[in-house]
Amino acid sequence: MHRDVEKILITEEEIRQRLDVVAQKILLEFADDELVVVILLKGALVFAADMCRRLPVKMTVECINVASYHGDIKSSGKVKFLDAKLPEVAGKKVLVMDDILDTGLTMRAVVDSLRELGASEVKGCVLLNKKKERSVTCEADYRAFDIEDEFVIGYGLDFQGKYRNLPYVGVMKQ
Ligand code: 5GP
Ligand code: MG
Ligand code: MG
Repeated sequence: MHRDVEKILITEEEIRQRLDVVAQKILLEFADDELVVVILLKGALVFAADMCRRLPVKMTVECINVASYHGDIKSSGKVKFLDAKLPEVAGKKVLVMDDILDTGLTMRAVVDSLRELGASEVKGCVLLNKKKERSVTCEADYRAFDIEDEFVIGYGLDFQGKYRNLPYVGVMKQ
């Protein structure tokens, strides 16, 4: 275990097994469709790479960069799109992949924007779902794990840009 990690919450093996199950659920719905997978960078990178390889459907993969302003301006709940242009999704079925649903604002904003661009269907898929009350209706149709409301790192999730490469999800030492 990495020396900055207090405890491992979800092991590599647990992630593998659960992703197999979630992929089957996604396939029940999209097996015969052409999908646009939209990956929210950077957090969803590792999860999405593993999930896409479990989905033997026709797909194109797009990445978008979003910044969420929480912390000191948390109350404003702003989500900012950093790319000049969003992917072309008019008339297409879209599956958005993110690392974690915390306030839910990021997923909400991305799903709304893709719908405005004319996607015929937009679904959300996250590795982690924090168990908490949310002010927005939650938009992740597929969730691999429910976790307590604590800060986690690993498997794509960072602290100040680090620890994304840890193969498991863990809690950091104070
Ligand atoms: P939201 O609050 O909009 O649902 O989540 C915004 C983003 O905050 C997530 O995509 C993720 O990048 C980051 N985030 C939320 N909770 C955690 C956490 O526990 N650990 C890490 N590393 N990032 C988090
Ligand atoms: Mg993120
Ligand atoms: Mg981050």
